[in-house]
Amino acid sequence: MSQIYDRVALIGLGLIASSMYWAIKRAGLAGEVTGYARSEATRDTARRIGLCDRVCDTAQEAVEGADLVVLCVPVGAMGAVAKDIAPALKPGATVSDVGSVKRHVIQDVGPHIPEGVHFVPAHPLAGTEHSGPESGFAELFDNRWCLLVPVEGSDPDATARLRALWEGMGSNVDEMDADHHDLVLAVTSHAPHLIAYTMVGVADDLGRVTDSEVIKYSAAGFRDFTRIAASDPTMWRDVFLTNKDATLEILGRFTEELFALQRAIRTGDGQHLFDYFTRTRAIRRGIIDAGQDTDAPDFGRVKAKS
Ligand code: NAP
Repeated sequence: MSQIYDRVALIGLGLIASSMYWAIKRAGLAGEVTGYARSEATRDTARRIGLCDRVCDTAQEAVEGADLVVLCVPVGAMGAVAKDIAPALKPGATVSDVGSVKRHVIQDVGPHIPEGVHFVPAHPLAGTEHSGPESGFAELFDNRWCLLVPVEGSDPDATARLRALWEGMGSNVDEMDADHHDLVLAVTSHAPHLIAYTMVGVADDLGRVTDSEVIKYSAAGFRDFTRIAASDPTMWRDVFLTNKDATLEILGRFTEELFALQRAIRTGDGQHLFDYFTRTRAIRRGIIDAGQDTDAPDFGRVKAKS
């Protein structure tokens, strides 16, 4: 794979930025990658583990001379970071981000992008429940989707170059409008996370009553909820605060369906339950056929030794 940018700056050095760094290095996609994180502790860790070719003490220093700047901070922090770096951006540079919500980021970041600088928002649909500079790995984006969300006036060449970077990092790339993105993600990611947080919270309340039986005997379904519910609290707080309308719309539909299933259980309507579960099983088959998950039992997890 050949070099796509001379210099890339990663602002925020957590799971996504560190994975980007290792993926960029794996394929030789940039001449130099600079990095900045707001805390000295994170910058020290980055220097210790060799994350970024150069770790800078200010965001402005990191973006100076960069051809691509990627904002990798929580969604609620994007606007302030964009305002901070704006005066140091190189004319002709591209600013992108990896935020999980797009309309809000566009509204917060867009006004700070100077004339002559391109803005191409993006969202890699890849992650784990871990966070911080040491959680990243080069394979995170392999065979995962990255959605580019060009704004009005986004330069097609800048968008094409960013696409090449994400493809070079292993992703499949698609383009999508911001509102559509936020609705799709509310269904596929945001609402499921909220449901997992709720289920683990309910189980925790029970656990207190039954002396941790919930943890001791936790079966696969619940364990998967606990993994999702271990995701970063700051990131997820920001997702719900900034994708409010779409998430509330999906949760409204979810509660209606839940009530219908609750009613079927109460009235003994086995046909309703059977038909519903048959329909949902077919969705799982579709995900496997699309190559987005494995057919191995128990989600392909290697069994922990008991
Ligand atoms: P992370 O591992 O928690 O890292 C976040 C980074 O942002 C850290 O370097 C942190 O700096 C910095 N930061 C936090 N608050 C900040 C603030 N107020 N101002 C400036 N910097 C701040 O997060 P991540 O998982 O990489 O997520 C980064 C972005 O990617 C988020 O927008 C998220 O929505 C998106 N995303 C995440 C996933 C996922 O599964 N995790 C997937 C796709 C997209 P310090 O370390 O110095 O505190």
